[in-house]
Amino acid sequence: MGGEDKIAMVGTPCQIIAATLMEKYSSQLKRNFPIDIKIGLFCMENFSYEYLKKLLHSYGIKFRDVVSCRIEGSNAYFHLINKDVVSIPLSTLRKSMRKSCKICMDFTSELADISVGSVGSPKGWSTVIIRSEKGLKLVEKAKKAKYIETKMLDADRLNLIEKLAKIKKNKNLEEIKNRERVARPVMYWRIMPEEIFLNEVENYQFKDLKGDVIDVGACVLCGACFFSCPEDIIKIEDRKPEINGKCPPGCNACYIACPRSYVPDCIVNHEDAYSALGNYIEIISARSPFFKGQDGGVVTALLACALSEKIVNKVLIVDKDPEKPWKPLPILTDKIDDVVKASGTKYSVCPIFKALKE
Ligand SMILES: Cc1cc2nc3c(=O)[nH]c(=O)nc-3n(C[C@H](O)[C@H](O)[C@H](O)COP(=O)(O)OP(=O)(O)OC[C@H]3O[C@@H](n4cnc5c(N)ncnc54)[C@H](O)[C@@H]3O)c2cc1C
Ligand code: SF4
Ligand code: SF4
Ligand code: SF4
Repeated sequence: MGGEDKIAMVGTPCQIIAATLMEKYSSQLKRNFPIDIKIGLFCMENFSYEYLKKLLHSYGIKFRDVVSCRIEGSNAYFHLINKDVVSIPLSTLRKSMRKSCKICMDFTSELADISVGSVGSPKGWSTVIIRSEKGLKLVEKAKKAKYIETKMLDADRLNLIEKLAKIKKNKNLEEIKNRERVARPVMYWRIMPEEIFLNEVENYQFKDLKGDVIDVGACVLCGACFFSCPEDIIKIEDRKPEINGKCPPGCNACYIACPRSYVPDCIVNHEDAYSALGNYIEIISARSPFFKGQDGGVVTALLACALSEKIVNKVLIVDKDPEKPWKPLPILTDKIDDVVKASGTKYSVCPIFKALKE
């Protein structure tokens, strides 16, 4: 990553919260944070790669034979190389859901510049929530340059998105209350004004992150701690982040950057939790006339447009690991071909910010 980089990223709501924290507190982190545009995905839940692999195995499916996976209604549909489609009830799939997703209060990436999801739009289209002027400019540019075509979203479909967001928030708020009751703190959901936040976290280090987040099943495996660590002593592979070294006095970077440790209320606004979708300028449906994607190929088209129009010079995306089929692999690239190759949803978590450092 060079000092002059301007990067567009795509990520799940928890990853977008981490990006927002690292952007706002870059002076405390003593590190330039180069993400200029945040494209967030809708996300009801995510799954553990190893559990998902075992579950598919019990249905006689090998990950390497899966061409795509779509979640529609109450089932997940795995499309296989031999053209078979195997359906698994979402209730079964949810047994491999990550614990951290059960306390997640964001369905539509409320802190992104643009949020994109499938629910609310017809097949082959994506739902697009434009939230910032920067996001609006990119969507307008992509439309003008014919990377995407758009249409209005009708009221029934908007109601459906709001309903799903509220279902997630209400259910997960109950889980947060339950965990707090049995002394498993949910730090990021404790109201914390900014002044108190900066004071509170002043002396917190990796051991506190471990106790407050990692050991209580709240880590979303985003890699923000790895990226922020000035000593490069955090290891993050398939599971939990671990430390290999000693933290110097005065460093609290990993604790500040983590989206599941304390988060000040100027970033995660608790009142917004009850407005299903957060703040936005406009909601539309869109699709790309030429890029194939999970839904309308809109994320791929927006990122390709941002690169070719030189709005950014690199993009942070999630591809598939060539060694392990369907295992998400974060990459930082300036090539549109890589963006096209990375289209489609991989239903497992991935330490996306790792790729910013490597
Ligand atoms: C874990 C997960 C859960 C989701 N749950 C919902 C849901 O409940 N309801 C809903 O409406 N939509 C959900 N989505 C979003 C949906 O699957 C599509 O990603 C979205 O509609 C965009 O489609 P597209 O065709 O425009 O994107 P595409 O053009 O196909 O681009 C998709 C982009 O997503 C990125 N990506 C893929 N996998 C991951 C990952 N694991 N983590 C971070 N980034 C990734 C890739 O970098 C790629 O650039 C979910 C996405 C993910 C990753
Ligand atoms: S915590 Fe889970 S449900 Fe929430 S955004 Fe992250 S992956 Fe999605
Ligand atoms: S040095 Fe220690 S406290 Fe500082 S970021 Fe790294 S792990 Fe965290
Ligand atoms: S502990 Fe690290 S990987 Fe886990 S949520 Fe916090 S910043 Fe992300």
